Amino acid sequence: MQLIRNFINGEFVEATGTTPFDKRSPLNNQVIAQVVEASRSDVDAAVQAAHAALKGEWGGLSTDQRVDLLYGVANEITRRFDDFVAAEMADTGQPHHVMTSAFIPRGAANFKVFADVVKNVPSESFRMATPDGKGALNYAIRLPKGVIGVISPWNAPFMLMTWKVGPALACGNTVVVKPSEETPLTTTLLGEVMNSVGIPKGVFNVIHGFGPNSAGEFLTQHPKVDAITFTGETRTGTAIMKAASEGMRDVSFELGGKNAAIVFADAEFDAAVDGIFRSVFLNSGQVCLGTERVYVERPIFDKFVQALKVKAEAVKFGRPDDHNANYGPLISAEHKQKVMSYYAKAKAEGATIVTGGGVPDMPADLQDGHWVQPTIWTGLPETASVVREEIFGPCCHISPFDSEDEVINKANDNEYGLSTTIWTTNLSRAHRVAARVEVGITWINSWFLRDLRTAFGGSKQSGIGREGGVHSLEFYTETRNICVKL
Ligand code: NAD
Repeated sequence: MQLIRNFINGEFVEATGTTPFDKRSPLNNQVIAQVVEASRSDVDAAVQAAHAALKGEWGGLSTDQRVDLLYGVANEITRRFDDFVAAEMADTGQPHHVMTSAFIPRGAANFKVFADVVKNVPSESFRMATPDGKGALNYAIRLPKGVIGVISPWNAPFMLMTWKVGPALACGNTVVVKPSEETPLTTTLLGEVMNSVGIPKGVFNVIHGFGPNSAGEFLTQHPKVDAITFTGETRTGTAIMKAASEGMRDVSFELGGKNAAIVFADAEFDAAVDGIFRSVFLNSGQVCLGTERVYVERPIFDKFVQALKVKAEAVKFGRPDDHNANYGPLISAEHKQKVMSYYAKAKAEGATIVTGGGVPDMPADLQDGHWVQPTIWTGLPETASVVREEIFGPCCHISPFDSEDEVINKANDNEYGLSTTIWTTNLSRAHRVAARVEVGITWINSWFLRDLRTAFGGSKQSGIGREGGVHSLEFYTETRNICVKL
C-alpha cells in the first residue's frame, strides 16, 4: 500500500504522533493509499522551513532566475504528464479526457503564465510638483508577502492548487500547501518535481490532513503564515477568515456558487444545449463555475428540457481509462450522501423529475463507488432548497421565463455570485444582460473558456479578491511606495 507523506523542507517525511488515514477510490470505495496526517508540530516545521527559505537562496534570486525555475517546473510537469494524469484519475475517478485536455495541462500552464506576468509587469510611477519647484518622483516596488498558506479543494485538485502556488512562487513567496484530504496525490507528486528542477528546499511544502483540529486549522492559526489563499466552501471560508483575523493576515477566497444559466429563445439552439450540458454535468457536476439553475425563455422551454434530457441520459458511466465511458463518480461517500439528500428534497418539495434522481446500475466491481445519475428537475418555485442552495452535484433545475427583467431578478436572487452563462444571438441583449447579472465571471455563448490573464473570482458570498494575470499580484505581493525629493 502506497504511503503518501508530507513534504517539508525538500524531504518526504512521516508525521510525528498521528496515525495515517485512508485514501479511498471514488470508483469502488477501496483503500488505494494511506496518507500521513500532519500534526501541529509538522505544520510548524513546514511553516518554519518556508520562513527560513525566504531568507535563503530563494530570497536572493532575481526575477529572471525565478522565472527560469518556474518554466522548469512547468516543463517537468509536462514531461511527467502521464504520472500526473494517473494520480489525478486515481484521486477523483474522473475521465482520462478531462485530465488530459484540461486539468493537468492547466496545472503546467499556471506556472508559465504567472512567470510571464511577473517578468513583464511594469511598476507605477508618479511625478509630483513641490513648493520649491524641483518636484518629487514616486515609484512603487512590489515585494513578496512572505509565507503563503494554500488550502485547496478536491474537485479539480491539481489545477486549483497550482493556480495559487504558481503566482505565489512567481512573486517570490514560499508556500505551505494543504490539499484536500480527498485528493492528496498530485500535490505530493509536485514535491518530486520541485526537487528535480532545483527549487530550493523549504520553498514548497505540503502537509496532509483535514480541516478543523487538523492540518488545515493548524496552518491557518500559525502566526508565521503571512497570508492565506483558500478555495472551497463558503462556510469553511468563514472559519478561515476568523483564524486569519488573529495577526491581521490577508485572505484570498474562491468560494461556493449557485450559478444561473440564461437561455434566450433566439439562442443557437444546439450550441446552447451542448454548452449547458457541459456546464451542468462536467466533472459529474463538481465544478464551482457549473450551472445548477437554468432559466430558459418560454417559447423554447419544452424543446430545451427534452434536448438536455436526451444528452443526460446518454452518459456512459465507467472507469477513467475505459474509452467507452465518459462519466465518473462523485468524490466520496459523504458527498454522495449530500447530493442524494438533495435528490430526496427535490422530490419531497414536489419537483417534476425529468430524468435521474437516483443511482445507476453498476457492474459488481464498481457497485460500492459513489455513482449518481445526472438529474434534471422542473416545476419548483424559486424558494425550493434545490433552487437556492449549492449542491455541487450533476443536477439542475430548469425554469421558464418571459422577460429580461424577470430572469435577471431571478438570477440575482441568491446569496452567491460566482459565474453565469448567457445564450443569445442578440448582441445588444448579451451585453445588457451581462452587465446586470451580479457575478464575478460571465460567459456569453460559451462556458469555462478561460484566458488565464483575466480576473477570476466571485461576487457576494462567492469570494474575496480576484486571481488571474496581474490581479494575482495584488494578493501575492505587497506594494510599497518610494518618494524621492528631486
Ligand atoms: P471544503 O471547504 O470542504 O474544503 C476545502 C479545503 O479546506 C480542504 O482542504 C479542507 O480540508 C480544508 N478545510 C476544511 N475546514 C477547514 C478549516 N476549518 N480550516 C482550514 N482548512 C479547512 O470544500 P470542498 O468540499 O473541498 O470543495 C467544494 C467547494 O469548493 C464547493 O463549495 C465549491 O463551490 C468550492 N469551489 C470554489 C471554487 C471557486 O473558484 N470559487 C473552485 C472550486 C471549488
